[in-house]
Amino acid sequence: MYFDSHLHSEGLGFSELKKLAENQIKDICSLAFFPVKPRYPQTMIDVFRKLVEFEPVRCKAAGVRMYPAVGIHPRCIPPDYKIVLKYLEEGEWIAFGEIGLELVTDEEIEVLRSQLELAKKLDIPCIIHTPRGEKVRATMKTIEILNTLEFPPQLAVIDHVNFETIDMVFETEYWIGLTVQPEKLSPDDAARIVAEYGSERFMLNSDAGYRDVEIATVAAAAEKIAENVGKDEAIRVAGKNAKKFLRL
Ligand code: ZN
Repeated sequence: MYFDSHLHSEGLGFSELKKLAENQIKDICSLAFFPVKPRYPQTMIDVFRKLVEFEPVRCKAAGVRMYPAVGIHPRCIPPDYKIVLKYLEEGEWIAFGEIGLELVTDEEIEVLRSQLELAKKLDIPCIIHTPRGEKVRATMKTIEILNTLEFPPQLAVIDHVNFETIDMVFETEYWIGLTVQPEKLSPDDAARIVAEYGSERFMLNSDAGYRDVEIATVAAAAEKIAENVGKDEAIRVAGKNAKKFLRL
């Protein structure tokens, strides 16, 4: 049984959710995202409500247990975002995500920092996106912000890490997310990384949703890791670590 630690179930159809279950991906963490820049802060609040109240029910009907993560993605920063922060402060959450930097603007830095401060105060795990462009700069800045806040290492996963950023992230104590998708890492890449860096701090995900993506990549990568590295390692990066991180 596998755990996809970062996807967007709202961007998947029912048959795609069933495909996850058919491939033994029975647990997923679905992260907040809104595909257009919200015009109102309240839009994000309703995004979170849908993710918490409706999506788990839809996922369950497809055979998948879904854990929602809420937060302001750098591409979804609404005006008056502090209204969203206040809503986040008053709720109870499993995790914050997807948060992070995209273009590394001052506003993005401010929104990320505020959410991390809140997460530290409320003791909530954070799933932190790194972008496709500006990856090195955004990753460096993210680590700098985490260090400045003395953010608890067990509460952050730096996600979409690739061969360009892995050494930089591995030097920290944070969790490391590996996204297995044709344009990101292949199952073989994931196996190579786990063989070289060990399985202690990694968790696998598909980042599936909204786009033309492959669905069951966590299962494919886990099988490669079991074959090339070991069964225990596969179980850890494709399940156990995510559960430990999310404290399930
Ligand atoms: Zn994502």
